[in-house]
Amino acid sequence: MQSITIRRPDDWHLHLRDGAMLEGVIADSSRDFARAIIMPNLVPPVVTTEDAEAYRGRIMAALPKGDRFEPLMTLYLTEHTDPDDVEKGKESGLITAVKLYPAGATTNSHGGVRDIDKAMPVLERMARIGLPLCVHGEVTTSDVDIFDREAVFIETVLDPLRKRLPELKVTMEHVTTKDGIDYIKSAERNLAGSITTHHLIINRNAILVGGIRPHYYCLPVAKREHHRVALRQAATSGDARFFLGTDSAPHVDPLKECGCGCAGIYTSINTMSCLAHVFEQDNALDRLEAFASLNGPAWYGLPINEERITLVKRAEPVSFPVKIETGAGPVTVFDPMFPLHWDVER
Ligand SMILES: [Zn+2]
Repeated sequence: MQSITIRRPDDWHLHLRDGAMLEGVIADSSRDFARAIIMPNLVPPVVTTEDAEAYRGRIMAALPKGDRFEPLMTLYLTEHTDPDDVEKGKESGLITAVKLYPAGATTNSHGGVRDIDKAMPVLERMARIGLPLCVHGEVTTSDVDIFDREAVFIETVLDPLRKRLPELKVTMEHVTTKDGIDYIKSAERNLAGSITTHHLIINRNAILVGGIRPHYYCLPVAKREHHRVALRQAATSGDARFFLGTDSAPHVDPLKECGCGCAGIYTSINTMSCLAHVFEQDNALDRLEAFASLNGPAWYGLPINEERITLVKRAEPVSFPVKIETGAGPVTVFDPMFPLHWDVER
């Protein structure tokens, strides 16, 4: 039997939601991952260090007994974010990053930033104190095609911002295009990117061919095949600027399967099986640890995990549930459309 042992992975972009949904999904992350960067797009969003401290408390309370899992908290950047509060959050060790959502970019982002000039005081402070900015890298104006939003964001928002503030550390989250990969590779420093599990596996056909398939719809939306190939090459290359951020984003089925379905794909439960499959297919199993367990902590200046996990390749496919049941309702699990044989040994 084939097996591989790696340091316990971390998830550098995760939506845990709140309340009954949080309680229903957290075990799927704490089972395989040691830490995760927790997205702040709740209703209302996590805007201040006080909000983040309270949310962290709710996450820890929902954690299954005996699981060791560290939520790394983020703040939702607004045009009114107080630089002193951000600095206080970093100094206390509570805050790992600040998240920029262009207004309207994804689930619960209407309170995001419209005019980046208004956020400059806090961005300048972050550059000075070394606190990374995580960006949802898409413009949201209606004249830009949804498949071009990432490329246009790089050109019109991100590159000018990085030229204005070269000391600011920026994580381009959930990169979905070759443009994004090439931009990150072109930067000498202070730029890295997270890549999701599902964007390594699906292209936009998954959403649109043979009928509308809402469980493959997420934001940023999956792109053309050549973009997926570029993401695969970056993720499996071992390049320290690329690391795992699942962007696992649960919505209950009634909110996905309707006239205006929500964006988000739920992958926490089977990410490590999917990744082992992807890396094996690309003859890169020896670089899975870099992508899932080493590059992320190096970028965020955190220690790597001492614990290990072992993935084994089983003769029979591993079965994951089609849906998980939560107190908020059923959540459909990402189906990679191929059998999964890799399994995390328990
Ligand atoms: Zn996200």
